[in-house]
Amino acid sequence: MRYLSTRGQAEQKDFTGVLLAGLAADGGLYMPETWPRFSPAELRALRALPYAELAARVLAPFVGECIAFADLQAMCRRAYAGFAHKATVPLVQLDTNIYALELFHGPTLAFKDMALQLVGHLFEHVLAGRGEKIRIVGATSGDTGSAAIEAVANRQNIDITILHPHGKTSEVQRRQMTTVKADNVLNIAVDGNFDDCQDLVKAMFADAPFRAEMNLSAVNSINFARIAAQIPYYVYAALNLGAPEREVAVAVPTGNFGNILAAWAARQMGVPIARFIVASNRNDILARFLDANDMSVQGVAPSLSPSMDIQVSSNFERLLFEFLGRDAALTAQTMATFRASGKMAVADPVWRAITKDFKGYRRSDQETLAEIPRLHRESGYLADPHSVIGIAAARELGPVGMPVIAAATAHPAKFPDAIERAVGVRPPLPAHLADLYERHETYTRAPNDLAAIEACVRNFANRNV
Ligand SMILES: *Cc1c(COP(=O)(O)O)cnc(C)c1O
Repeated sequence: MRYLSTRGQAEQKDFTGVLLAGLAADGGLYMPETWPRFSPAELRALRALPYAELAARVLAPFVGECIAFADLQAMCRRAYAGFAHKATVPLVQLDTNIYALELFHGPTLAFKDMALQLVGHLFEHVLAGRGEKIRIVGATSGDTGSAAIEAVANRQNIDITILHPHGKTSEVQRRQMTTVKADNVLNIAVDGNFDDCQDLVKAMFADAPFRAEMNLSAVNSINFARIAAQIPYYVYAALNLGAPEREVAVAVPTGNFGNILAAWAARQMGVPIARFIVASNRNDILARFLDANDMSVQGVAPSLSPSMDIQVSSNFERLLFEFLGRDAALTAQTMATFRASGKMAVADPVWRAITKDFKGYRRSDQETLAEIPRLHRESGYLADPHSVIGIAAARELGPVGMPVIAAATAHPAKFPDAIERAVGVRPPLPAHLADLYERHETYTRAPNDLAAIEACVRNFANRNV
């Protein structure tokens, strides 16, 4: 399988090349040259498989010749072995045709683990084969940091350094990062805010000699390997609800558009998904686009569902590329105009083609706080502030008589304050994290100063020399 850039000016790569590169050199995003396709008989054959086995078979055509199938299978098994539910991604029925697909049984209680746990193993495997070592650096305001740390903790040939703003993350979020026992993990608490942390990471990448000396890398949310690793759970859920004989719809709490794009990829591969419902909070650029062809950038406002607080959804470029007939020059031009003007110009017929199957939905914080107890009353189900918007969207926009898969992207215990406001009780942490508050924390405190941070990273890199 070859991969090409949505902007057409970068060299094509194989799966390994895409995994290591993340973003294409022309600023575009990598896409498979063609979508692999499963026949109805091939899909039916996946139906009885445990999740990790199904995932290996769905991913095999994307990986191509780069990794032997037996190795891929072993990595899928290891990636999902630690999940806290035997089904890995259980489907929970909430109403006649509404099912929550629980994607939060991984180590950090959010759906990012679905892709990152596997990507950690993929990195380790590929780097060992090449005899290379990389250092991942990143900044976090909360959740992405812990998912990245859990993904590469104790992996060979990878170090990870995550900067967080000292005293400015929630205690659960900080402890999920600082209590991981692994000698390849360095947490730095920076005396500054999240923007300072992000600026320090950007400055490290911009410092060419340092970047080369440390072989810096990022765990990018636009890496196609992460998208690929999110396709299997849509295949799994649809098969369990009657596909390929029966059509299904999906409703997905959306930020960067990666998760819902994976559902669309599942359809390209032959899974009959008839509708894609994009759920947003007050940061509703996607809902405005789907309602009225208004993709215009406004500021980001904080909400109860912070992982959906986005200004621009980077993975939307991939869908745009497809609906522009894979015209890379036109995609590049559309993105350049969008960046310059803050408004994306999508021709009416293209917009109509997208909105035939994609529907937008939004809920304010106030509405979200009302939905949580309502769902709890009606179905006995406690959903976090992200998932509940997807479930409400499924109820309101799901086609009549069709099963709707509502992606449940975070465990309610990850957002105890919002849950307490909504239903009056704090959800307990699941068993595997129950002692989080007793675990020993390890982190280094550092000033908001590039030289000081680089010294920390360098000392850490040289710790065993
Ligand atoms: C990351 C995240 C999302 C958004 O997913 P995208 O793939 O960026 O659209 C939604 N909910 C939760 C809990 C997340 O962590």
